[in-house]
Amino acid sequence: MNPGAEQSVAEVKVRWWSSIPAKLIFGLLILTLVAGTGVWSIVAEQQERLFLEQRIREAGITSSVISRDFAEPMSGGTGAAVWSTLSADAAEFTRKKLAARVLVFLRDGRVMSASDKSAVGTRIAVSGNPECPACESTRAEDFPASAPVRLAGGARGLRVVSPIPITDICRFCHQSDDEARSFVAVDFDLSGLEHARSARQRSILVLGVAGSLLLALLVALLFRRLVMRPVGALSHAMARLAAGDLSTRTRALGADEFALLGRHFNHMAARIEDQVARIEAARTESELLYRLVVDASKNLETNDFANGVARVIKEKLWPRCVAFFLEGAEGGWICATRGNPGCKALERGEGDLESLLVSASAQVAKPLAGFPRQLVEDACRAHALQLLRGAEDLSIALPVVSESRLVGLLACHGIPDDARVDEALLGNLGAHLDLAAVNSRNYTGAITDALTGLKNKRYGLARLEDALNFARRKGSCLGLAMCDIDHFKRVNDEHGHPAGDAVLRETARRIAACLRRSDVAVRYGGEEFMLILPEAAPAALQPTGERIRRAIEAAALDLGAGAGSVGLTLSVGLAAFRAASDSAETLVARADAALYRAKESGRNRVAVELPEAGAPDPARPQP
Ligand code: GH3
Ligand code: MG
Ligand code: MG
Repeated sequence: MNPGAEQSVAEVKVRWWSSIPAKLIFGLLILTLVAGTGVWSIVAEQQERLFLEQRIREAGITSSVISRDFAEPMSGGTGAAVWSTLSADAAEFTRKKLAARVLVFLRDGRVMSASDKSAVGTRIAVSGNPECPACESTRAEDFPASAPVRLAGGARGLRVVSPIPITDICRFCHQSDDEARSFVAVDFDLSGLEHARSARQRSILVLGVAGSLLLALLVALLFRRLVMRPVGALSHAMARLAAGDLSTRTRALGADEFALLGRHFNHMAARIEDQVARIEAARTESELLYRLVVDASKNLETNDFANGVARVIKEKLWPRCVAFFLEGAEGGWICATRGNPGCKALERGEGDLESLLVSASAQVAKPLAGFPRQLVEDACRAHALQLLRGAEDLSIALPVVSESRLVGLLACHGIPDDARVDEALLGNLGAHLDLAAVNSRNYTGAITDALTGLKNKRYGLARLEDALNFARRKGSCLGLAMCDIDHFKRVNDEHGHPAGDAVLRETARRIAACLRRSDVAVRYGGEEFMLILPEAAPAALQPTGERIRRAIEAAALDLGAGAGSVGLTLSVGLAAFRAASDSAETLVARADAALYRAKESGRNRVAVELPEAGAPDPARPQP
């Protein structure tokens, strides 16, 4: 996956209108509104029915009361005075708002009395008139009869018809006739009660809507807490994992499905982290070993090899300090360091490396300043890797062993945890260093003169060819010096061969001390030394030769074994390389010729063989 894709995955946000809680609230609202409307209409209908039934019952009672009330005046006869009295009573009922209108009519429909005088004398249709229910009937059980009517002004009303009861007094005149002779129609105004009912329905509606909103909110809150929160946490953790944070984990509390999902995610993330850590460790190891192999094969000489190891370890494992001890090719020990305060990149010392390290000698203390010393001692004693894990870093002491002998030690301090160094890597590193150290020793031994520690003749001549080719390719200068100790035979003759060897060693040390790092000092044979001087301009050859000559002449040379010292001199012959005509042989021959001239002119001299007049001067680039 490319980094841009990782970024976009991590940055995706859910818009609020696409979020599940928003959809849930919306859905719940619609659902509760639809359900609420249905329930509301059923309830409203039911209420209407109950309301009507109640009103009919009430109206029936009122109507019966009115009709019974009218029975008494009518028991005295039905003259105009009685009808008028009934009209007055009817008007009184309406005035008291017990009814909207009261009509008294005969079986044929003639209105005899009315609360509204204008209705007296009118006629009500008694047959098939829905507004006059049961008006044709004479059966007592059909009354009171009710029916909806429209009142004056279009208001909704309820008409209840009741017969005026026949009293015993009535029967005096009307014999046994039980049939009703007159009826009372009482109209009730329902509009006031209707308004109250509408208001009640409105409040039910408002309460219903508020309730459904509250319900939706409650469900959404619960959903958010129980579902969205764990989903959000999981989604966040996944985004972080996708963006490369492999240590990310999510909360997996409880025992519900989300907790299970969270635990599965954490398990998966831990597996990925572990696998990636293994891959990273393997990559670190292969990169480290590859770099060491390449470096060691390019820098086989002990000093270069030690320096290369310290440099590669510092670059690849990021320790605060590195100290890589190795037995020197000419005895003693060397130590390549990186990051060690107060140390040179390459420290040297005398003595047996293993016993110095095991005894924590002061001689090896400087490169090991700050290292856990016990770790170093344990590693050298046990010939085994020792690790010390701190809070955030790691210290190691890795012995380099050849044929059961300690020949070196890699000590690293403050390796950060990010470097992913583990014992497997260090084990492989140790095996590699063991082998590479032996190779380096063998190679260095093969190119080094055992007595003086300078390079031997075969290696020197090969390097001379390299230097010639380089100077030719780059058009740079090259000088060659041949040095010979004057009357050296006398030292052997007078002080013995071992004293001669001591003088040769001391002479070699003084010559090497006069040279640059890029120069190569070679023991050419016996008491003769060849010095390859890359980039040395012809004008610099004489002073260089003088510097070397003086270094020998300056002080008597130690004969060793308490045999005192002897004053000696050195003759030096130098030749400047002629790119056009010189080969290695001719350059050596010309330097030799110069040496011969120095000897001839009295020894302890410096003679320089410059390029012939007219020949190209290597110090000046030719057009
Ligand atoms: P000149 O000034 O002419 O160079 O005289 P010289 O005595 O230095 O030269 P000569 O060639 O006569 O003698 C060189 C001597 O160096 C002869 C040999 O015994 C001695 N020699 C060569 N190699 C070694 C060595 O490895 N150790 C010792 N001790 N002597 C050596
Ligand atoms: Mg000689
Ligand atoms: Mg000599």
